[in-house]
Amino acid sequence: LVKEVIGDLKVGIITKSTGLWYEVEDKETRQFFKGRLRGKLKLKGMKVTNPIAVGDFVNYSLEDEVENTVIIHDILERKNIILRQSTRKKWHGHIIASNIDQAILIATLALPKTSLGFIDRFLVAAESYGVPTYIIFNKDDLLEDEDREYLDHLKSIYEPLGYKCLRVSAIENQNLNPLKSIISDKTSLLVGHSGVGKSTLLNKLASKMYQRTDEVSLYAMKGKHTTTFAEMFTLNEHNGHLIDTPGIKELGIMGIEENEIGHFFPEIREVMNDCKYNNCTHVHEPQCAVRELVDSGIIATSRYLSYLSMIEGDDNRK
Ligand code: GDP
Ligand code: ZN
Repeated sequence: LVKEVIGDLKVGIITKSTGLWYEVEDKETRQFFKGRLRGKLKLKGMKVTNPIAVGDFVNYSLEDEVENTVIIHDILERKNIILRQSTRKKWHGHIIASNIDQAILIATLALPKTSLGFIDRFLVAAESYGVPTYIIFNKDDLLEDEDREYLDHLKSIYEPLGYKCLRVSAIENQNLNPLKSIISDKTSLLVGHSGVGKSTLLNKLASKMYQRTDEVSLYAMKGKHTTTFAEMFTLNEHNGHLIDTPGIKELGIMGIEENEIGHFFPEIREVMNDCKYNNCTHVHEPQCAVRELVDSGIIATSRYLSYLSMIEGDDNRK
């Protein structure tokens, strides 16, 4: 039963979506509410399984002051959306999150070791969304000297391409201040394999996550278990938000054609016009500028191998 709307429209940000209910954080007061949609939202030209996503700014009004419930009236214009291919054919996808400023890839050379193939696929996806990415290597406390030398090598590959790298230890609080300055005042998508230390880092950076009211009843109201794709956390000491993406192994690169993948490798994009053939795939063609740079060691072999595996494996592009 819709109770009467009290007061004016306010602006909030969606911090959690559980299907019928949304968690709304007031933009100014940072108070949390349980929100639901007023009727149906009209979405222009989009077929997605979820009309509202984590990261959306919305207009809301207070519904019940005692229960802290609100009604969501409208979505404000989105800066971007991160999509995941829908399993239901007639829909284009599921919005993982919206209004992302940057992606934070949590990796590690300790167990479970992050593969370069995974890092490169993630970077291609982030490039396709136009989202800047930082690579955070966690568990530095567990590394041997030779691992650190290897990390310096990786840094020399990725930083010239525009992907800043940082070594941290969530357990030993190493380099958490530089990490805080990277994420302050921004909305960051946090991604990494399970086990790399995402939750440990989140706890250090956004411990207020446990002070939310009514978390339990929010779940109870859901009734049955549904997958929560993403959840947003408000940073402790700084403005800014982190979006955790549990259950999302990697960002898909849906919608990217094989011959477009090179555009999302900055070092390939930069020289591809120098290839003899303008439809060069950089695999076997003569006078390929990309392969020449791979041979001379200017383009990292590991990056080129990632490129090859991406243009070969079309399962990546579903
Ligand atoms: P998640 O699956 O990515 O959320 O990973 P967790 O935060 O649950 O961490 C997985 C395991 O790695 C836990 O046992 C953590 O204590 C451990 N861990 C996380 N960060 C570090 C770190 O910086 N150093 C060490 N030695 N262990 C860590
Ligand atoms: Zn080429």
